[in-house]
Formats: sequence, structure tokens, C-alpha cells
Amino acid sequence: MKIIFKAATRKERRQFYREEWSEKDLPEFITKDLWQREFGFDHDGTGPNDRYKTFKNTTSLKRFLKVKAPFAGYISVAFYNNPRRREDWEKSEFVFDVDAKDMPIRTCNCDSVCEICLNEALDLIKDMVDTLKGDLGLKNIYIIYSGRGYHIRILDERIMESDSNLRGELVKYVTGADIPKNLINLGYTKVFNTRTKRNINLLTGKEQIEGITPKLLKDAIKYKNLLDNNQWGLFQERLGPIRSKKLLNSFGRVNLSFVDGKVSIDLKRILRLPTTLHSKVSMKSVEVKNLETFDPFKYAVPKFVFERKEP
Ligand SMILES: [Zn+2]
Repeated sequence: MKIIFKAATRKERRQFYREEWSEKDLPEFITKDLWQREFGFDHDGTGPNDRYKTFKNTTSLKRFLKVKAPFAGYISVAFYNNPRRREDWEKSEFVFDVDAKDMPIRTCNCDSVCEICLNEALDLIKDMVDTLKGDLGLKNIYIIYSGRGYHIRILDERIMESDSNLRGELVKYVTGADIPKNLINLGYTKVFNTRTKRNINLLTGKEQIEGITPKLLKDAIKYKNLLDNNQWGLFQERLGPIRSKKLLNSFGRVNLSFVDGKVSIDLKRILRLPTTLHSKVSMKSVEVKNLETFDPFKYAVPKFVFERKEP
């Protein structure tokens, strides 16, 4: 069946929280030390204005959700000893936010999200998780389907106390934002090459990218098959040294803008609470247990969507 991405009504929200929502679906990394988190809620679709909320345990959270049936629910990436005042900060998850709607290159033509761009977002998430685990050796990495994209949430103690500067540097590494200093296809150079190759392969020719003329874009597409064999030298030769430098510079920025960098460096951010409803599109935010088999249309569609009558 075709999923219609329209907003959930108040009645549908109430039905969802009363009949479908279960505390058992909350990931363990959320329920553990739940009292240390700040929660935020959007009750009417105008943004998370109801903040500084705290819950002693999942039972009180459950009661709140069932009574209020909020438009959206959020949880802090931060752990505080005094979450009600956002004081006495202890540590924060390190997160990456990929919103399929905001990706600078997508092969689909949709105006919100669809199967194609959500798949492209998931592919990027897989690549980034490989880098986070392989290159950076990070552990305790969780993937959340946010309703319109994906969050990577990292609860590795070695990084949770780090400041925004270090997080910003890691974002540049993982996304491939800087032109590498050498050409050896290892370490960071490999990350940059992989991300850039992926994004050049997604080009349709209609994109408008700062610093890249339509002719250069066309040539990049023309020679992209060279990148399948990692012939970066030849690829750059075909474009010419000045133009290839321009292209790679621009792609550094493009690579970076697939993630919302502001989210990654914000130690006090609130992120959509897994299990809650993304009411704008009527999808559930859920933990992705298996990256290879996850399909949002299978795991994240609330029951009420199937009961909707065609207009
Ligand atoms: Zn799309």
C-alpha cells in the first residue's frame, strides 16, 4: 500500500498513544538513567515549547504520553544531575542527524520524504557507522529512525564528555568535509573519496552547487565511472587541475551538509524521542535494530495510517 505522508490528527495521536505506544519499545540507552534527561514536548505543532520536563521512570513518562498525546516528544542528548534546570551537566551523547528532506543531493523529486531519499539517507548512515566504528573505534552506537531521516546516537564514554570543538572536528572527518592532504586511499583520504564518490554518483545534472558551473557538473557526471575504480588521478586529469580542485572543494561542503552539523556540536540539544510519533508525516520514530534489513515502511508506520479512508 502507498503511505500518505500527511499530518496526524489529534484523534489519531490519542489513538496511537493509548493503543499502540508501549514502554517496552523504548531503547535501553533511553530508559537507563532516564531521570538525568531533559524532555521537551510540542503539544500543537508549533515547536517544542514545553521543555525542562523530567520523569523519574518510564511509568510516569507513559502516563504523560497517554494523557497528553503530544504532537512531538523529545529527549536531551545530555545527562544532568539537575535536568529540571538543565544544570550540573555530566555528559552528552555524540549525535549525527541526517534528515532526508534536507539532503543537498537526492535522486528523487519528492517535496518531503519518500522511499528513494529515505533509502539514500540510510545508505549514508551505514557508511558513517562504518567510519565511526572502523576508523574511530567508537562503541555503543545506536541508530534511530526519526520519522523523516535518521539519527546516529553514540554513547561511548570516551567521547561523551568532549566539547563542541572536538565534536565538530569529528563531524568533518566522518562526513568527508576537508580535502585530504595526500592521495593515498587510506584513513581520512578514503573517507573523503568514499563520500565524494557516493555523492557524485547521485548527481542527476539538475543540481545547483555553489562553486560548480553547469559545465563542470556535466563533466563530473561524464567521467564519474573512473571513480568506480578509484582512478582519482585520472578523474582530476580529465577535469583539469583548477577545475578538479574547485569541484573537490565544493564537494567537501556538500558532503558536510548531508548532516545537520549544528545538532552534532550542541551539547544540550533535544532530539526526537524514539517510540514517539512524528505527527507531521505520521511515522513513528523507532530504533533500527538491524541496519541491513530496516525498512521504515515496515517498522515505522503506525496502525492508524492503515485505517485511514481515501479522501
Ligand atoms: Zn524523496
